[in-house]
Amino acid sequence: MTDALSIAERPSPNHDARPDGTGVDILLLHYTGMQNAEAALDRLTDANAKVSAHYLIAEDGTCWRMVAEDRRAWHAGVASWAGASDINARSIGIELVNPGHQFGYRPFPEPQMESLKALCHDILAHHPIPPSRVLGHSDVAPERKEDPGELFDWAGLAKNGIGLWPEPEQTGDPEMPFGEAMRLLTEIGYAAPETTVMTGPARNVLLAFQRRWLPSDLCGALTPGTAARILEVHAALTRT
Ligand SMILES: [Zn+2]
Repeated sequence: MTDALSIAERPSPNHDARPDGTGVDILLLHYTGMQNAEAALDRLTDANAKVSAHYLIAEDGTCWRMVAEDRRAWHAGVASWAGASDINARSIGIELVNPGHQFGYRPFPEPQMESLKALCHDILAHHPIPPSRVLGHSDVAPERKEDPGELFDWAGLAKNGIGLWPEPEQTGDPEMPFGEAMRLLTEIGYAAPETTVMTGPARNVLLAFQRRWLPSDLCGALTPGTAARILEVHAALTRT
């Protein structure tokens, strides 16, 4: 390991082979949405639950490996990004212990984030994952998921070379047509609907975008600030 992160083994039976020819090009971050680390370990290693991830990191920074990186862990569920739908086949999944929105969502403590950074550095050194494909579960499943959520420090990760975070620039208040917003979100990678008016799915994609890139505007509407942020993120992600 590059940053001397020690990893405990806690094997999960919930994995299978990656399909032939599928390389790893997505790093997907989650929160567990459960009361504590032990409950999450139990569930993620329970054969009946049929869910897993490659790694789990507790709030005190303890890290467990549950599935080997060359196997397909079962963490994304029904999901898509940039037109691809078998996200498990092409990703490495990391679960962060946090009660989540259901049980008392709270900030991710520093020891947990330090372990996460060390683990991400190691993963990114061994797989061709571009910065634009370090994603949250809500990015790839906006209809169903909110994790890792609006308290997750994406900017802090990017400062450490993990993923992207274009600095917000206050570029004014663009008059962006709704259909144009959906088109740009699709080009960024989101499964945005083709629509010129607000719909349920459009709102969920806007919420996912705001949760990730503009938590101060987490409202599901195409606010002027959201339109400006869409342009910034689009410029940053389509450059890489
Ligand atoms: Zn998740």
